[in-house]
Amino acid sequence: MVAIYQETGASEVPVSWRATRMSEERPQMKNRPGAQRALDLRHGPLQLPVFLPDATLGVVRSLDATDLLQCGIQAVQTNVFHLMQKPGSSTIKALGGLHRAFGWERPIVTDSGGFQAYSLIRQNARYGSLTDRGILFRPEGSSRRYKFTPEKSTRLQIDYGADIVICLDDCTHVDESASAQVESVTRTIGWAKRCKAEFERRAEQLRTPPDERPLLFAVIQGGGDRQLRQRCAEELLQIGFDGFGFGGWPLDSEGNLLTEIIGYTRELIPVDLPMHALGVGQPASIVTCAGLGYDLFDSTMPTRDARHGRLYTFTADPGSTTFDGDWYSYKYIQDRKHIKADVPISPYCHCLCCARYSLAYLHHLFKIRDSLFHRLSTMHNLTFMVQLLARIRALLAEGS
Ligand SMILES: [Zn+2]
Repeated sequence: MVAIYQETGASEVPVSWRATRMSEERPQMKNRPGAQRALDLRHGPLQLPVFLPDATLGVVRSLDATDLLQCGIQAVQTNVFHLMQKPGSSTIKALGGLHRAFGWERPIVTDSGGFQAYSLIRQNARYGSLTDRGILFRPEGSSRRYKFTPEKSTRLQIDYGADIVICLDDCTHVDESASAQVESVTRTIGWAKRCKAEFERRAEQLRTPPDERPLLFAVIQGGGDRQLRQRCAEELLQIGFDGFGFGGWPLDSEGNLLTEIIGYTRELIPVDLPMHALGVGQPASIVTCAGLGYDLFDSTMPTRDARHGRLYTFTADPGSTTFDGDWYSYKYIQDRKHIKADVPISPYCHCLCCARYSLAYLHHLFKIRDSLFHRLSTMHNLTFMVQLLARIRALLAEGS
């Protein structure tokens, strides 16, 4: 049964409501001190809030599924736009879907490709075009052209076996013109209608019973304009979805989190519906957005930072931090001061890397460019993220 439920204390106590099959009447619920949120998906529950590492091309780089489980990762996020190019939809089908191909038995969220269209096409027209009908994409160095429509994005995500399917949206940056934001919202709503129709059509074709279907999330656009965000949220709520995402680049041109509009957008959606802060992964931003009521986060940042030698550390015991002051810092592995440092990256980390290896050995692996460095540093940063989200959940449960 797919549902959000609340968990109180140590034992899971589903409360009287079970959200939220689309179009069904949804009981009201309030966030209550002492209660934790969770989301039941086909491949298991997610304790919320949760961080999902990005497996954009079908892999969290340098880790396998056992490594991810050892870090405590609950779910991963991948991307239909990239997967349909590499390894390609027919290959994924031949391998029995994403879960079998990845060797991963827990939930998988598939992003729709809207953000990729923004980052590739909106910023460089030679990669393709974006119209109300959909996206036409020409990868660099390839003669192939890909047609990508709301229907195709939805159908592929379902066929890949996703636990959460995300509607194709038209993503913008907050600094784009007012007319571009209006066009984005109008197109995002139109595409969301088509995604939902295709979602239901495909589920019928596959004869999937309602309680075995993935969840369908829609994405709220509107840049920094409150009225546009409101229009987008209201029309999407009317269509009916299982959850929502904050759409658009989440930072301003100076790299600051758009806290005000992100918080406002969360308030437009009933608290019993889960919300995904798409692309938010910087630790301090996650703390802020979780405090605003966001439930899911994904980013390539922690794993990319790990591969480049930027290692995350808590400055005090993460089991008691209240996220005041400088509660975390970075260690840069290439720093010469680590050459003979016979200590782990962090005394507060229980990952494989910190349990077995010194900073000095990691520095050596980094210098000789051994792939073991990528694996160990990625496991460390992901364990940091797992500890971070566990602490946020504990504080939310206390009502802090
Ligand atoms: Zn560690």
